[in-house]
Amino acid sequence: MLFLPGCNLRCPWCQNRELVLTPGAVPQGIPLEAALGFIAGRRKVLGGVAVSGGEPTLYPQLGDIIGRIHGLGLPVKLDTNGMNPPALKALEGYARPDHIALDLKLAPERYGELLPPGRGPGKDPAKDPAGALAESAALIRSSGIPHEYRSLALPGAYFGPPDVAALSPLVDGGPWYFRPFAPGNCLEPAWDRFEAPADAESLAAEARKQGKNGIAAGKR
Ligand code: SF4
Repeated sequence: MLFLPGCNLRCPWCQNRELVLTPGAVPQGIPLEAALGFIAGRRKVLGGVAVSGGEPTLYPQLGDIIGRIHGLGLPVKLDTNGMNPPALKALEGYARPDHIALDLKLAPERYGELLPPGRGPGKDPAKDPAGALAESAALIRSSGIPHEYRSLALPGAYFGPPDVAALSPLVDGGPWYFRPFAPGNCLEPAWDRFEAPADAESLAAEARKQGKNGIAAGKR
């Protein structure tokens, strides 16, 4: 896993607190060149590299990073929240990842709840987060790149069957994994106090009801 710091969302349940809030001072962070050097030294024992975050599409060098990992003979999986479709489009025909995982967090019309404070219309690339998500999902569906969708089953049905139904038009036949949320190091500390188990299976069942490949998966 290559974790690139910084994100254009602030999901309250996010467990990459330091990566999102203090991207310039990540404990145990190492410079990108050193990370790529580390990968190069381990290329014979690695099956591939997942480029994650934070939100890796915020890096203008993302194509170069993917190209350099490919140059080591390793496939790349890209994790994205779908809020930066121009960056996904820029990868077409340049440094295409070998696999893409698109996070689906809430019903599209609820994504405004996840924007950083003070990032209003007219300024932010995610000023229309529902539109950005739809555009990214369309790019991924038509890319020919193997892909999957990932959702967290959040406590208190915060993300419920109506969200799954609203997201379904964005999803094709790729696997759509639903994992239960587990508290710990959340961006909003209140989320660490949620203990109620989230029901991943009922969400996966709703996805299947919508004709999608919903799969309840274990905790991350
Ligand atoms: S969960 Fe992902 S998209 Fe949300 S704030 Fe954390 S890193 Fe960003």
